[in-house]
Amino acid sequence: GPQASDDLLAGLNPQQLDAVTHRGPALLIVAGAGSGKTSVLTRRIALLLRNREAWPSQILAITFTNKAAGEMRERVGALVGDAARGMWISTFHSACVRILRREAGQFGFTQNFTIYDSGDSRALIKRLVKEHEADAYGLTPASVQGRISKLKNELQDAESYARDANMNDPAERLFTEIFADYQRQLQKANAFDFDDLIGQTVYLFRAFPHVADTYRRRFRHILVDEYQDTNHAQYALIHELTRPVQGEAPEPYASNGMMIFEPETTPGSGTGAEAGASLTVVGDSDQSIYAFRGADIRNISEFERDFPGAKVVLLEQNYRSTQNILSAANAVIGNNFDRKDKKLWSDKGDGEKIVGFTGYSQHDEAQFVADEVEALRRAGMPYSEMAVFYRTNSQSRALEEIFIRAAVPYKIMGGTKFYERAEIKDALAYLVSVANPSDEMALRRILNKPRRGIGDVTETAIARFAEEQGITFREALSHPSQLGVGPKLQAAIGQLDQVLTEATAIMLPASGEVPSATSVAEGLSLLLEKSGYFDSLRRSRDPQDEARLENLDEFVAVTRDFARNNPDGTLVDFLTEVALVSDADDLDDESGTVSLMTMHTAKGLEYDAVFVTGVEEDLIPHRISAGEPGGPQEERRLFYVGLTRARKRLHLSLAMTRAQFGEVSVAMPSRFLQEIPAELIDWRQSPGDVNSRGGTQSRALNARRQGGGGRDRFAAQPLEKRLTPLSTAMDRFPNKVTAKVRDNGDLELVPGDRIRHDDFGEGRIEAVTGEGAKRIAHVRFDAAGQKKLLIKIAPIVKL
Ligand code: ATP
Ligand code: MG
Repeated sequence: GPQASDDLLAGLNPQQLDAVTHRGPALLIVAGAGSGKTSVLTRRIALLLRNREAWPSQILAITFTNKAAGEMRERVGALVGDAARGMWISTFHSACVRILRREAGQFGFTQNFTIYDSGDSRALIKRLVKEHEADAYGLTPASVQGRISKLKNELQDAESYARDANMNDPAERLFTEIFADYQRQLQKANAFDFDDLIGQTVYLFRAFPHVADTYRRRFRHILVDEYQDTNHAQYALIHELTRPVQGEAPEPYASNGMMIFEPETTPGSGTGAEAGASLTVVGDSDQSIYAFRGADIRNISEFERDFPGAKVVLLEQNYRSTQNILSAANAVIGNNFDRKDKKLWSDKGDGEKIVGFTGYSQHDEAQFVADEVEALRRAGMPYSEMAVFYRTNSQSRALEEIFIRAAVPYKIMGGTKFYERAEIKDALAYLVSVANPSDEMALRRILNKPRRGIGDVTETAIARFAEEQGITFREALSHPSQLGVGPKLQAAIGQLDQVLTEATAIMLPASGEVPSATSVAEGLSLLLEKSGYFDSLRRSRDPQDEARLENLDEFVAVTRDFARNNPDGTLVDFLTEVALVSDADDLDDESGTVSLMTMHTAKGLEYDAVFVTGVEEDLIPHRISAGEPGGPQEERRLFYVGLTRARKRLHLSLAMTRAQFGEVSVAMPSRFLQEIPAELIDWRQSPGDVNSRGGTQSRALNARRQGGGGRDRFAAQPLEKRLTPLSTAMDRFPNKVTAKVRDNGDLELVPGDRIRHDDFGEGRIEAVTGEGAKRIAHVRFDAAGQKKLLIKIAPIVKL
């Protein structure tokens, strides 16, 4: 039996111990947030290796982000040392890329295929929508892309879709044609989109059982984290991998030279290779937040049926958060129907109360966050232990403005991704054009970057020539004089051809020669210099071009880093790594900065202090979710994920007015706030405070209140009253202007009028927009600068 004194098992509770040491075909660990699911997976891997129950090469562990994979690898390494090398710990996507790179030749692709990210797919789909004139039928690139992605996640292709679709409907027919065409284009470009990485691997396994057998023999232990967020394609992949080997007994080496298993005796039983792999999955159906991408909670709820003989372990102790934080999270998630109730508890004590704050505007809210961050910092908490979450990326702007002003160091995780910048995409397209000359999209992208005078007409001429001659677009570039274009254009095309050829010689030297470790960096520099790309930016007077130049320098630095970390790394390896950098993965993970991210990105992470911002109706729950079946429930799970990231301090904040979707609107407190027991929240400024005061300057008010103990007045009110939406509060007191409630409903203001504001002083009206209760004054204050004010409630008088 397991020894609790064993250092690998030390400190585990009995259920965790059970989960780490259980051996059998299938194990499901279901448990709430912070109960040690990911830790248990890590220990389980370490134990398998340490006890020599498995070779590293026999383990496949799937995590949700590359970052999580890196952390797990590190932790296993810390537990068992060198034995950890050779394991596959990766995301679904990375694992599938590795498989496809080896096996692509089986079905008409080559090893150097390109990976299209969602921007690339969008560009291709946009072209196809245009070509098919489908916009006339209401098909937008975004909607087509979304539908194709969803179908692929359900393992449908254009053909299978067409069988069930109503082909009399012209829009349906067009969609099906575009879907089929899109797939043809991908194949022609030797490219997979993100969904294909999974779907095509499943297809590969099903169409070529001997290939599937190779991997079934190899992976004897498969472990999946965040199983609640797997979609059907990912589920099918796991299913394929865990099936018993179908074919003959194996050769130790597969035909492609890959070692299938260590030639010595396999640890465990000698005949075990014929049975299906052992599968361990961990998940929490309360944290399922990717239904919109096709994730299917049923993968968890039906696990026992799908994997007969499965053992189920429940974990109930939360090791992350204080009881107050946990109680709030439990109360919120308890409002979802159709779920198994879990009793998550913590022995960390009640801890601090949750801090609530309502700002007058999102800047006011951001100022509160910045102030609290600084206060915690002064109290000794490092910035790297603090995180700020929001529902939508656009909310980060106000936070960033205030953070910059307050000199709070921060980084955005996900968000404006480095690799989505146009200049980086251009540089990547140059590299892809070298790595995969069949990729026409990449070539078309760089055709006129920098400007060479090559326009649509020339592009079409190249494409036509390629088609006539039965050669590729890339090959057509090598025949500039035959394209029927003028001498200047011929020279431009010839020069591009020349640059690509030179770079190819560096990065992909003729067979037999090994490219130097720094070949990618050298090749990239050559491409950017000789193409004239760098020069065009250097010559420019646009200050943005200077930033672009810096970004490209940084990108060249990335290739140098890559060379340092991967001495044998090839161009294709580099492009793979770049393509798989995902939302939660940052270029550099500096400590000493506050992390800003969406609640989706926050999954699986933990911080000492967490700020959940924008806790308003229409944001969380988001307004697009309202009409979706199950939408509000999924939003509640997302909010639950946000709350349960916090170890010690949790802050919930909102703003009463928010500039969003191009207009300033009145916000209402999220319904989720009301689901948290009142005694758990310490309101520094409640929605009621803001209602009754109009505009406020939060810190002044705070100071006053903390001195006078006035805060409790609000805590004592019934919840529903404290959370009365602003608009309702005003309906209740129409024009009855008490000392506290300001209502300027009838105040006439025109541009040129002068006003005085309680906090901002005197100013001049520049414009008035909106109607009724939502009329906004655009004011230039003499001292405080430009502001937008909601006329109805702002503490202003006309002079
Ligand atoms: P999530 O659902 O958010 O992904 P999780 O269930 O994966 O959470 P972990 O991240 O594994 O939880 O663990 C949460 C925290 O609790 C971690 O800091 C981990 O180190 C700690 N922890 C887990 N088990 C124990 C234990 N037995 N003793 C002490 N700390 C533990
Ligand atoms: Mg986890």
